[in-house]
Amino acid sequence: MTDSRYNVVIIGGGVVGLGVALEVTRRFPHLRLLLVEKEDRVARHQSGHNSGVIHSGVYYNPGSMKARLCVSGAAAMVEFCREHGIAHEVCGKVIVATQADELPRMEELRRRGEANGLAGLRLIGPQELREVEPHAAGLQALLVPSTGITDYAKVSEKYAELISARGGTVLTSAAATGIRQLPSEIVVETSRGAFSTTAVINCAGLYSDRISRMAGDDPGVMIVPFRGEYYDLVPKRTSLVRALIYPVPDPRFPFLGVHFTRRISGKVDAGPNAVFALAREGYRHRDISVRDLASSLAFPGFWRMARQHWRSGFDEFRRSLSKPIFVRALQRLLPEVNEKDLVPGGSGVRAQALRPDGTFVDDFQFVPSGKVLHVLNVPSPAATASLAIGKAIVDTAAVRLGLA
Ligand SMILES: Cc1cc2nc3c(=O)[nH]c(=O)nc-3n(C[C@H](O)[C@H](O)[C@H](O)COP(=O)(O)OP(=O)(O)OC[C@H]3O[C@@H](n4cnc5c(N)ncnc54)[C@H](O)[C@@H]3O)c2cc1C
Repeated sequence: MTDSRYNVVIIGGGVVGLGVALEVTRRFPHLRLLLVEKEDRVARHQSGHNSGVIHSGVYYNPGSMKARLCVSGAAAMVEFCREHGIAHEVCGKVIVATQADELPRMEELRRRGEANGLAGLRLIGPQELREVEPHAAGLQALLVPSTGITDYAKVSEKYAELISARGGTVLTSAAATGIRQLPSEIVVETSRGAFSTTAVINCAGLYSDRISRMAGDDPGVMIVPFRGEYYDLVPKRTSLVRALIYPVPDPRFPFLGVHFTRRISGKVDAGPNAVFALAREGYRHRDISVRDLASSLAFPGFWRMARQHWRSGFDEFRRSLSKPIFVRALQRLLPEVNEKDLVPGGSGVRAQALRPDGTFVDDFQFVPSGKVLHVLNVPSPAATASLAIGKAIVDTAAVRLGLA
């Protein structure tokens, strides 16, 4: 039997799907909303396996969605955490240049940050860096006072609680297994029954391209899973890091480089690296999915990307397999840290969209098709920006899916 109670169905209970659902229930309280999540609770994947940083917006191209939604989303996130009693702290961070060739890139970050409207950005020398982070070393650093930290699993749980309180339904252990677009309705088949509706929003993270194909659409990109592995600083050495210490990122890659993050729990971790994962939910080296691997290898863009980035990919693999190499990368930022100070920590897998020409999709990407809206690229800083992304997606859905 098909359940036809719902006006809108959202697939995926990560921070983005929940952020969208929260906005739908706020803006259109009369709509009956269903969110289906395949796991037994929300935020089991990217949203529960990240660095917990409330990014400021310093990195992103002025004018991009990432820049706009990160800056407004960060402010909204801090306010949301404050209003709902979720632990958070605006602790600031330093981006540290350790080699002369990084100085122009650091200047470019400052320019971008200022263009994005960030307040209080300041370039500081080695002396002042030591006052901010006594154990960090570098030629110059960019001080970013508006960066913060929180726990996005807790944020996601709060979104789910508010959605339910406003009459929405969050159905867990409900994997979408089929989508049929009929002339007057869409049927979403799940492991907990079939639902007919008139609007679907695909927020399936690492599987968003597959859900797009399931709906009969061509996503035009493939999601490539990149695992990020962390080490934890042992408790007696967490005093080496006050807040957040980052390197200057390599502009050729969509990742920020291994860094030190103080968690809201007080723990300090180092990472994440970025290793091509052999399964979309491959949290460990030994997690291999033949289907995921075969689909990556069959995508022409994968080989183009591999040809272009094989050297850095190889370096990431070496660093992943060798603690001494990982530690050497960290010692550039924090010379006193050594192998004994670090124990293996958790990991997360990023969903990064890749084009057939082998280039990474840099900006957020939402693609409407009929009465389905596919959210195909929402990598970092999407947790930070989730409230703002929710608004932007609902703006599009209101017009394209006829939600209003
Ligand atoms: C290592 C790492 C560090 C990061 N650090 C930060 C950070 O510090 N700050 C920041 O802002 N961002 C960070 N990010 C990025 C951020 O975590 C993600 O951008 C964000 O969580 C994406 O949310 P999402 O809801 O799209 O994806 P997800 O959280 O992955 O949610 C997608 C959901 O869809 C579900 N799903 C998939 N298929 C189906 C199906 N068929 N049926 C039903 N449900 C399905 C999945 O189970 C999952 O729960 C980091 C990411 C990683 C991996």
